[in-house]
Order: sequence, then structure tokens, then C-alpha cells
Amino acid sequence: MHMTISEVFDDLYDHYERPEHEGPDDMLGTLMRTILSQNTTRSNTDRAFGRLLDRFDGDWDRMRRADAEAIVDAIEVGGLARQKTPWIQSILEELHEERGEYSLEFLRDCDPEEARAYLSNFKGVGPKTARFTLMEAAGMPFFPMDTHILRICKRLDWIDESLSGTKAHEAMEPRIPEGEHYAAHIVLVRHGRELCHARHPECELCPILEQCPHGEDQTSSQTPCHPNEPNT
Ligand code: SF4
Repeated sequence: MHMTISEVFDDLYDHYERPEHEGPDDMLGTLMRTILSQNTTRSNTDRAFGRLLDRFDGDWDRMRRADAEAIVDAIEVGGLARQKTPWIQSILEELHEERGEYSLEFLRDCDPEEARAYLSNFKGVGPKTARFTLMEAAGMPFFPMDTHILRICKRLDWIDESLSGTKAHEAMEPRIPEGEHYAAHIVLVRHGRELCHARHPECELCPILEQCPHGEDQTSSQTPCHPNEPNT
């Protein structure tokens, strides 16, 4: 039986429970944290962001004026610190110059596409970072795709195997049911971590196996332990 995308998500929510968006979060802090999360784990992101806030008492102006080495030192636990430091300081510099304050709260009143385009102008803010910030901090209808989500969407044949980056986001975003962007993002990340691993997905335990061409291939190609015995 072929299911709609919405029905597939319902099956995932039944299995994992439906994630609820906890409400608005500080927009600039979320952007900085998301930049720090690039190419590292969640726990290293938390440590890098925590150390950055502690080091400067959460004062964005002090971070803007700080010696770059002090920021590198604070965030190096998150990796790519020499790349991320100028991104962080240039965002603060631009906000200071253009708006005279360290805040992105005005984006809440913008059209989501305008808000996405504004964030994307900053160095270090790619399609995933801009979308994640606006989804997470403001509940905007964006669908950021990390490596787990990209892999699962391809396995389910929801998007073409050749797509990545902006094109993958643009192909998938309109297919997400209205009001489900946050829950769909979180549940697919969880599915990628718990069952749909990059190597050796646990398809036989998967709640959406019947909807997944990759999973059907995987399970039908498994040979029995004793190939000479009938497969009962
Ligand atoms: S059936 Fe397997 S490959 Fe498909 S979504 Fe489930 S775990 Fe992933």
C-alpha cells in the first residue's frame, strides 16, 4: 500500500512520538549556536557555545571587539575554530554597523523567504544553517536537511539521488505537510540516529519499511544463515 508523506510521518510519530516545538528562542544566539554546530557533534556544540558565552558573559559587543584568538580559544572544542571565529565576528560587526544592536528579532516580522535571504548573506551561513535557525528559533516553515535527513529522503525515493545542498532543500521543503516542518525534521534526525544508519540500517525494525524501496531491497537481498535450508 502506497502512503502519502504525511502518513509516513504519522507512522514515525507513532514509533518515536511526535516532537513538539518548544516555542521561540533567541534568534541571534540560535544562529551562533548553529554556526558552531557545523561539522561537529551536539555535545561539542553545547560545550563550545557554553564556553563562548561564559568567556564573554554573553556580551555580544565584547565578542565583536575581542581579539580573535580569545574566541578561537573559547570555541576550539567545536572544531574549525579559525574558520568560525571570523564568521561570528563579522556577523556581529555587520549588525553593529547596520542596526546598532545585536539582535535578529526583527526577522520574526519578515516573510520567511526574506528572513532566509537576509541570513544567507552572512559568511558561514549556508542553506542548512539559515533554515535551521529560522525553524528552531521562530518556528518558520523551513526543513533543514542534515546528512541523516538527506540519506533517508533518498532511500525513501522522496528526492533524486544526485541532489544536495540548496537543491535538495528546495526539492523537499514544499513536500513537507503544513505545520509539520519542525516535527518532521526532528523525527527524521532521530530515525537516522536510531535505525536508518548510514551503514547497516536496521530495516527489519523500521516502522516505514513497506514504504521504503531501499529497505525492501536490503531485506529481500539478505541470504538465510544456512543457504541450503528452506527459508521458512
Ligand atoms: S527501511 Fe531501512 S533504509 Fe528504509 S527508512 Fe527504514 S531503516 Fe531506513
